[in-house]
This record gives sequence, C-alpha cells and structure tokens, in this order.
Amino acid sequence: MIRLTNIEKRFGDLTVLKGVTLSVAEGRVTALIGPSGGGKSTLLRCINLLEIPTAGTLRIGQEELSFRDGVPPAWREIQRLRRQTGMVFQNFQLFPHRTAIENVMEGLVTVQKWPHERARERAFALLQKVGMAHKADAWPATLSGGQQQRVAIARALAPSPRVLLCDEPTSALDPELSGEVVEVLGRLADEGTTMVMATHDLRLASRIAHDVVFLEAGQVVEAGSAQALFTQPKHDRTKRFIATLT
Ligand code: ATP
Ligand code: MG
Repeated sequence: MIRLTNIEKRFGDLTVLKGVTLSVAEGRVTALIGPSGGGKSTLLRCINLLEIPTAGTLRIGQEELSFRDGVPPAWREIQRLRRQTGMVFQNFQLFPHRTAIENVMEGLVTVQKWPHERARERAFALLQKVGMAHKADAWPATLSGGQQQRVAIARALAPSPRVLLCDEPTSALDPELSGEVVEVLGRLADEGTTMVMATHDLRLASRIAHDVVFLEAGQVVEAGSAQALFTQPKHDRTKRFIATLT
C-alpha cells in the first residue's frame, strides 16, 4: 500500500537518506526507530513530500511518483500524493487562533471545499473519536499537551488519508499525558489505520507497532516484526540501540 524504493535525500553535500526501501501494508503500523540524526523525520517528510526526495520512487495506494535530481515534480503531482497522507508533529502545531473543532475542519473547508456544516459534523465525530468532543470550542492554548495532540490527530485524520504519519507524537509530553495519546493511537491501530511513526517511546512502539524499521545514518540496518526486532534483534547495532530505549 505504501512502497518506498531506493529513496535518497541529499541536502547539498550531505546525503541524509541513502537509498531507503520499505513497504507498509494496509492496516499495519510501522515504527521508525534509530539514533538522533539518522533520518527518521526526513523520511516521514519525504513520504508526505514536505521534502522532495532526490532519487527513488514513492508509491501510496495507486499513486506513484519517481524522483530525479534537479527535476522537481509538478505541483499537482505533489498534491496528489500528499493528499494520501496526514501528519502529526511532535509539537502539535495547531492553529492558535482557531478553536479545536475549527482546527479539525480547516482542511476540509479550505482544501476540500466541503460545506461548513458537513465539515463541522465530521470534525465533531473525529473529536469524539479522540475523546475531545467536550473541548470542541476550546482554544489550543487552554488545552494540555495531550489534549492538543489528540486534536492534532483528529485534524490529520479529517481528509481520510490512506496513511497517518507521526513524528515523535509523544515526546513533548510527560508520561501521563503521553499515555492518553498512546491510547488514542492504539485504538486507531486496532481499527486498522495504516501508520508510519518515528518514535523513541518504547511504550508507544511496543503497544502499537506491527513492524519496526531501525534506521541509522540514512540506511535501514534492520527491519522486521516488532516482536522479532524487540526480542531478538539480529544486528549488534540494533541490540545496543534497543537497550537504550526506555
Ligand atoms: P531525531 O531522532 O533527533 O529526531 P532524525 O532521525 O529525525 O533525528 P532527521 O531530523 O531526519 O533525523 O535528520 C537527519 C539529518 O539530516 C541530520 O544530520 C540533519 O541535520 C539533516 N537535515 C535535516 N533537515 C535538513 C535540512 N533542511 N537541511 C540540511 N540538513 C538537514
Ligand atoms: Mg526526528
């Protein structure tokens, strides 16, 4: 359902992704783990084309795009793939001057041109799903970090993306608040939401990931089922890294 083939990303002389190949089947959750600077965020940003890969092929559902250095794809091609994705960031990034429900409605109204009332209904249903309906009219600044992140998850899901991308969704939260976000993401995973998430949070990864990819210095060192990778990593490097997770 998602297939990255030999994805490479260079920033000037620095090659940050060195030919990453991976697949995520529909309804599966893949955790990207690995040391800081290894390229996890860059890889997620390449999947939603916030960064344009310098080489390789990206396929999401039926949509496919290949990249060649120096030839940026047409804007409508980028939009076509980006619309297949929803993204959740470490620091929530809600629009501060919009209420919780307006944050969730925003993309439906402005990008997808939904009528206001229909967008509001869908947004309210999504807020219910993440346990935030009671705060529909609250301003982001009045919400806890965990509550803001749950609104951000609802917002990412609003346009019904094929894949939910999460970059360290719990790392700005203390353990109690991150617990409520793990619970929401866990429920989405149980319902069959396809996800790719970068995380250092072993509780999150072991609760919801089916598959794990260990990325270091822009390369996949080891990939496999979460069960196999967490309990019987093959590479020494993976073993040592997993021992550092808490
Ligand atoms: P962390 O665990 O700290 O979040 P990460 O695995 O997400 O790390 P990335 O943020 O993807 O790592 O960064 C990978 C490398 O790419 C780093 O060396 C970083 O400095 C570099 N990098 C990322 N974005 C850019 C950019 N826009 N321009 C230049 N270098 C960049
Ligand atoms: Mg990162």
